Amino acid sequence: MSAEHAPVARADFDQVMVPNYAPAAFIPVRGQGSRVWDQNGRELIDFAGGIAVNVLGHCHPALVGALTEQANTLWHVSNVFTNEPALRLAHKLVDATFAERVFFCNSGAEANEAAFKLARRYAHDLFGPEKCEIIAATNSFHGRTLFTVSVGGQPKYSDGFGPKIQGITHVPYNDLEALKAAISDKTCAVVLEPIQGEGGVLPADQAYLEGARKLCDEHKALLIFDEVQTGMGRTGELFAYMHYGVVPDILSSAKSLGGGFPIGAILTKTDIAAHFAVGTHGTTYGGNPLACAVGEAVIDVVNTREVLDGVKAKHDRFKTRLEQIGREYGLFSQVRGLGLLIGCVLADAWKGKAKDVLNAAEKEALMVLQASPDVVRFAPSLVIEDADIDEGLARFERAVSKLIQG
Ligand SMILES: *Cc1c(COP(=O)(O)O)cnc(C)c1O
Repeated sequence: MSAEHAPVARADFDQVMVPNYAPAAFIPVRGQGSRVWDQNGRELIDFAGGIAVNVLGHCHPALVGALTEQANTLWHVSNVFTNEPALRLAHKLVDATFAERVFFCNSGAEANEAAFKLARRYAHDLFGPEKCEIIAATNSFHGRTLFTVSVGGQPKYSDGFGPKIQGITHVPYNDLEALKAAISDKTCAVVLEPIQGEGGVLPADQAYLEGARKLCDEHKALLIFDEVQTGMGRTGELFAYMHYGVVPDILSSAKSLGGGFPIGAILTKTDIAAHFAVGTHGTTYGGNPLACAVGEAVIDVVNTREVLDGVKAKHDRFKTRLEQIGREYGLFSQVRGLGLLIGCVLADAWKGKAKDVLNAAEKEALMVLQASPDVVRFAPSLVIEDADIDEGLARFERAVSKLIQG
């Protein structure tokens, strides 16, 4: 570390930061591939991936190269001008998906904010102001702006901030009859995560997404897939909708899209995009050249059969060993998820204690995540070495064994 930096420690967090997070006791200072080092030089294995963000691990040479090259070329021009990296990334997203148009922003919440606003504007223009209702799933997560917490419908995130956005209905996930009962001609959009990520790594049933598509068509409502967590190869396909073969009208992406550099996007069709006419929506940093240059490098590496098939093989490697650990220690009852978004559902005796598992893993120099208090979540790099998977799972087993022993 260079000499001009003043020394800082975890204790500084409580002195100078807003207390909305409770970060771990150690501070990561360096990463390479799926390994991370803290201030004391301790090496950890990273199965958390910055919450499904570091899609190619830490400091992947293709991403470092793209960022460095762009850093020496052009950083920012605003949307008063367009820029080459944004246009190239948009072309690549359009070529690889159902989409014909792209809007760039800086985070998942902003992508969903744009998706919801676009759906409302589209319905408003075509059918009038009455058609403004949005249907979302209980326990879903769409971000932390006021609109997105209102749609997410988890009281712990949405309550206590004054009046919420109106016109939002929540239905139980994977319950097609409930969706059928809730949808009407006033519905402008149905929004679903193909796998509920934060809610517990819960995949949608095939018939549910197919049924949702059909109901949306019958009621002239748009189907929005929030693929902020499931996108960019996470499930073993570029986007999870491809796995299901159910095509949305609007798709939101972020997290892995930038591989660790902030960027978000919505993808949609030309006739829908047309309702975001000049001046209707925008963001200063959206489509920033640095972010888009990195995003381009991410899609170039990720959207290859080699990487995507690797994700499926690595899923099996995780799942086999995790199920074995589950059977041996009785800590979890089920291993679920797709690709490298995997959740271990805690057994009844351990319900609510995912944080204890995280803490136990950290003591064994392993970074994992939770998804709700009842599920331990793994979202590692898509190109994590098999040796790192094996060593990380050996550490996980030690953590579980010690936790069980008390
Ligand atoms: C993380 C996440 C978001 C929010 O993304 P931010 O970049 O934190 O705003 C939205 N939707 C889903 C499904 C997510 O997993």
